[in-house]
Amino acid sequence: MSSPSDLVLSAEGLQQSFAVARSVAGRTKGWLRVLRGVSLELARGEIFGLAGESGSGKSTLGRILAGIDRPLGGRLLLGGRDVFGDRLENSLLFKRTVQMVFQDPSSSLNPRRTTGQTLEVPLQVLRLARGQRSARVAELLDLVELDPRYALQYPSTLSGGQKQRVALARALALNPQVLILDEPTSALDVSVQAKIIKLLLRLRSQLGLSYVLISHDLSLMRNVADRTSVMYLGRIVEAGPTPRIFQGPQHPYTQMLLAAVPTLTPDEEALKPAKVQPVGEIPSPSRIPSGCSFHPRCPFAMPVCSDQAPPAVPKGEGQFAECHLGVPAGRA
Ligand code: SF4
Repeated sequence: MSSPSDLVLSAEGLQQSFAVARSVAGRTKGWLRVLRGVSLELARGEIFGLAGESGSGKSTLGRILAGIDRPLGGRLLLGGRDVFGDRLENSLLFKRTVQMVFQDPSSSLNPRRTTGQTLEVPLQVLRLARGQRSARVAELLDLVELDPRYALQYPSTLSGGQKQRVALARALALNPQVLILDEPTSALDVSVQAKIIKLLLRLRSQLGLSYVLISHDLSLMRNVADRTSVMYLGRIVEAGPTPRIFQGPQHPYTQMLLAAVPTLTPDEEALKPAKVQPVGEIPSPSRIPSGCSFHPRCPFAMPVCSDQAPPAVPKGEGQFAECHLGVPAGRA
């Protein structure tokens, strides 16, 4: 656990649900329980990875961490203050702390604005003189390794990688401490992905940034995240330092995900956990299974698994897994 002075952002028991259907009378007939009590701490300068399949709740969590959506329950804390309770999510203080970069730069940039105009939008709150704004735009372009002449270009004239650099520059405009990166490279060509990751790593060192990296790409997670957490049906079921998660995954779901990651060398293949074959499909968040939500698919499920939600069991060095396996009887 990080000391309070190292913490830049934390979340306690976040809950989020969405109405799925309404009756003719307008009554809600069902709910998708997308987040079911998610807690995390982000330390200064850290890359915190959020992994999991599509539908696990990663992006919903990212939007709450970025202050875009309000949760139905739980708290987001910034410097000990409750962001949503104190209505800080639209404040300059919060915008100067947390910004988000989305997966698809093509849809996140306004096609009618030049790059320079896009980068000036977040600067408006600072009420800078025109010359200062232009200087900051040039500085931001330099940060993301784009020539100043790009300030006059529209998104339609930029490549996917250049658009993502502009989106990154816009997120950096107010000098935030934290970037929420939602699948920042998955919409890009493979050759461009490595360049964007290299840029992100340089910016982290140069500006002392912290990242929440949301990705389904476990190879990326293994290479860049300091800590990795694995989400399943709206909960973090395992988390810990990245080397421990990849070399000693404790939760059967993490083992299942890692067994499916392609490897390049026999050494990497030897490090993979034994194949864990899940049974069936991921259930809908409108019908979360009782007890351990992974139990209908888990090859190791025991009678207790469908009855009782497993506790978060410490596995040493900051790693934990929510699983009844290895829990002494009576502690569940
Ligand atoms: Fe499998 Fe039970 Fe562990 Fe859930 S708690 S992952 S069902 S062994």
